[in-house]
Amino acid sequence: MSEGELDYEEDQDHLNEAKRRVAIRGEAKNVRLRHRECDICFHTFTNPRRHAIQTHLPWYVAPETACWICGTQEQTTNFLNKHITRCHPTNSVDATFKNREVMYDELMNGLLRELARALGTSFPVGLEEKLNAIVRIRTQLPPTEFHISEFKLVDAFLKLNCLEPASNYKIPATPLLKIHHILHWKILKNLIGYLNSDEQLWLLKFEERKNTEGLQIGQLSIKLSGPLQVIDSHFI
Ligand SMILES: [Zn+2]
Ligand SMILES: [Zn+2]
Repeated sequence: MSEGELDYEEDQDHLNEAKRRVAIRGEAKNVRLRHRECDICFHTFTNPRRHAIQTHLPWYVAPETACWICGTQEQTTNFLNKHITRCHPTNSVDATFKNREVMYDELMNGLLRELARALGTSFPVGLEEKLNAIVRIRTQLPPTEFHISEFKLVDAFLKLNCLEPASNYKIPATPLLKIHHILHWKILKNLIGYLNSDEQLWLLKFEERKNTEGLQIGQLSIKLSGPLQVIDSHFI
C-alpha cells in the first residue's frame, strides 16, 4: 500500500461468492482470494475501493485523493501529487483538500439529499429507513468503520444537519445504520447500486453544496436566471 492511501478495507470484504464457497468447502486451498467483484458493474478488482471511488462515486466522496480544482478523483495521494505537479504547479494549495472540510460536508449534504430524492424518500429519516431496509436483504454487507481521518468529517456533517453527534465511528452489519454511515464509500455505493444506470450517471456528476435547510449554497443566481428568462419571453 502506498503511503497516505486510505485503503483500510479487510481482505475478506466483498469476496466473489463462488470463490467464497470454494474457500469454505476447502476444495482449493491455494485459490487466490485477492480479486473481488464489484456489485454494480460485476467486474472483479483487486482493490474495490479504488475502483468504486473513481468509477461509481462523485469525485468528492474520497476528498483526500481528489483534485479540488478540476474535480477529479486520483485514487491515491501519490497519483494526486503527480496530477498537481503536472496540472497545477503554481496552485498546489488550492488543489488539495486542506481546509475544505466544510465544503466537503456541504457537497455530501447535497448529494445525500439528491440520493433520497432519486430513491423517492425523505432526508434524513426516509433515507436512513431505506438504507436499513436494503441492509436487511443484503446480508453480505460486512461490518466496517470510518478511518480516523474521516471522524471530523462525520462530526461536521451531523452538526451541519443539526443531528445528534455519533457515539462511535463503527458501521455495524445489522440494520441499525444511521444517516452518517452513508458517508462511507462502501455504504454509499450500496445505496447508489439501487438506482437505474441513468440515475447512477446523474449522481456521479452531481455537485451541489447544500446548507442545513437543504438550500443550495453558491450558484443560486445562475439557477434562478433560467425560469425568469422564460417568464420574460412570455410577456414580450
Ligand atoms: Zn464497478
Ligand atoms: Zn486538477
